[in-house]
Amino acid sequence: MSLYLDSNATTRVHPRVIEAMMPYLTESWHNPSSGYAAARVVREAIETARGQVAALIGAKPSEIVFTGCGTESNNMAIKSLAREIGRTRGKVVVSGIEHSAVLRPVEAMGAVGFEVEKCGVGGEGRLDLDAFRPALDPSRPGFASVMWANNETGVVQPMAEVCEVARAAGWFVHTDAIQAVGKVPVRVDEVPVDFLSISGHKFHAPKGVGALFIREGSPFEPMVRGGGQEGGRRSGTENVPYLVGLGEAAAIMREEMETGGLSRVAALRDRLERGLGGRLDRVWFNGSREHRTPNVAHVSFDGCTAADLLPALDAAGVQCSAGSACMTGKGRPSHVQKAMGFSDERAFSSLRLSLSILSTEAEVDEAVEVIAAVVGRLRGAA
Ligand code: PLP
Repeated sequence: MSLYLDSNATTRVHPRVIEAMMPYLTESWHNPSSGYAAARVVREAIETARGQVAALIGAKPSEIVFTGCGTESNNMAIKSLAREIGRTRGKVVVSGIEHSAVLRPVEAMGAVGFEVEKCGVGGEGRLDLDAFRPALDPSRPGFASVMWANNETGVVQPMAEVCEVARAAGWFVHTDAIQAVGKVPVRVDEVPVDFLSISGHKFHAPKGVGALFIREGSPFEPMVRGGGQEGGRRSGTENVPYLVGLGEAAAIMREEMETGGLSRVAALRDRLERGLGGRLDRVWFNGSREHRTPNVAHVSFDGCTAADLLPALDAAGVQCSAGSACMTGKGRPSHVQKAMGFSDERAFSSLRLSLSILSTEAEVDEAVEVIAAVVGRLRGAA
């Protein structure tokens, strides 16, 4: 038995995605840049996928560049912006709760002379706009990178306000929307970010495919140069089946949003929280109740540590994470929970339980029973 509650780490590839990809692994395997009719079919499949991804976020297809993963999308945007703003005068402001795929490239900018400022969040995990506003110095060129939704807590950030502040300062905005796309409405026609990163495996496409939205007219310096694919913005022969898979996954998530699928996920998340809260005392549900993705319950279990809980839950069939998957096992409290003002004890006692459109009520109910039993046993042994 396996009860999968780790959808923010990755999601199962959707059966429809596999079906859509198969022809491009079998009969339509040609190089999309070739001149014959068979290659044209492949080229058209890429453009269909581009249109599907664009439609999910309200972009123009020409504003979507396919990449090898979300980490690459973040690096492409940040490195290009770094070049645009210049090392001697440029400044970059990020939230203190960014994923390492933003923090590491930004820290590398700091190491070569850029000024980098990290802005804090409140106890609910939302960006502190009063600290953010004065950090954006209009007398200097700069950019802000603020994630749309946090990977540990699912808390959705005030992106409209971030863009408003940045526009007033004449700064660019990049957003890591990897945990938001397909979970909450992410519309670049409503929220004027300049760059936005997407990763396929967070919404039922395979791992190893992503996209970067680059708003028309935004300055962009390619990181990978070569044969000029993707309009010269990311060269390299296209990973056609994966691009097709990403497009199909985007179409599925759009359908889900239009037909109430995400409300069903939110209802499952609420059922999970109610179940745990009803069976156990001394549990805390962390992060904003109001501004969050529908699929994450971030829970602290007083009297237990995630280091003890995770292997016991795994043995009992529940797969989940302590904070971010990338931090698991590193033996230090998550920077996200520390930024939210949690004590080490509380940070070490929290789990991230994350669902997807493929999660079921039976799975959630069974997971509640297992988690309650394991927490009870560990507390009893303490
Ligand atoms: N940014 C966030 C917020 C993430 O959650 C992740 C994956 O965990 C990444 C970036 C990295 O994406 P990828 O695994 O596609 O490189």
